[in-house]
Amino acid sequence: MGSAAGLPERGDMMIKIPRSGYTYVIDNLVKYMCLEDGKEFIISEHDSKNGVHCPFCQSHNTEAISILEDNDLLDALGCMCISHIEE
Ligand SMILES: [Zn+2]
Repeated sequence: MGSAAGLPERGDMMIKIPRSGYTYVIDNLVKYMCLEDGKEFIISEHDSKNGVHCPFCQSHNTEAISILEDNDLLDALGCMCISHIEE
């Protein structure tokens, strides 16, 4: 696990940011459907804990219809993945 070059260490969709005390976490993705207009959208599971609203009509009348937790598929998204920083 040593990192002589000071590069971030990768493991279980988390990357420790050297010397910062922070961890970069790649989020699971959740697909929601708006029950008002029937449109679908994807947000991170982490962000969904703060409440979910439709980005099209702003309604909170939404329902989770699918979740992507496959680390290989999330990894394949590369820089398109959704992430957050934890202390
Ligand atoms: Zn909507």
